[in-house]
Amino acid sequence: LQAPLTALALTIQFRHQESAKQLAERLSQSDPLTGLHNRRGFNELAAPVWSTALRNQRPLSLIMLDLDHFKQLNDRHGHDAGDLALEQTARLLERICRAGDVLARWGGEEFLLLLPETGLPEAHALAERLRQQIQTLTLSPRGVPISLSASFGVIERSTQQQLEQLINQADRLLYQAKSAGRNQVICEA
Ligand code: GH3
Ligand code: MG
Ligand code: MG
Repeated sequence: LQAPLTALALTIQFRHQESAKQLAERLSQSDPLTGLHNRRGFNELAAPVWSTALRNQRPLSLIMLDLDHFKQLNDRHGHDAGDLALEQTARLLERICRAGDVLARWGGEEFLLLLPETGLPEAHALAERLRQQIQTLTLSPRGVPISLSASFGVIERSTQQQLEQLINQADRLLYQAKSAGRNQVICEA
């Protein structure tokens, strides 16, 4: 009797360790505040999406957005209000996403949306819709209405061979949107 029991115990222990490992893996790829993928999770999911688009010469676009004057929001209304803004933005992004899109919290108040089978006009329209919807979020901890806006960089893959290049270019477009006065979408020319 002892041998099968030992085998069973070992199996159970093994499965338990496996799920603990999976859980640890999942946690290391997600952002605890918003539940979105973090940078690591994004890179992992985006890699096959990128290589499929590259191999099959399919359209692929990227949206990078950053909340405007977020430091000021924290300073004026508190860190909890800032956290709430991040969570609400994450939920809005999730609602707007399609299956197959890769969404992540890329940094503090910066988000990435990788859109397979999507050309620039469609990505631009999506970003514009998001921009408008972010303005309608009503954050009011302690009853104080807080207005929120975001700036966007949008780009479609053309000759880039690395996803990192596309991300850097989206970042530059986003920077242009900030310089041009924020609360706007700038697309690759
Ligand atoms: P800009 O319009 O140019 O983007 O200005 P900004 O104030 O949004 O940008 P800046 O980079 O100066 O400040 C970002 C702020 O975001 C500072 C940081 O404290 C805040 N932040 C980053 N992560 C979190 C977070 O998890 N929660 C909260 N509440 N704030 C965060
Ligand atoms: Mg910001
Ligand atoms: Mg930022």
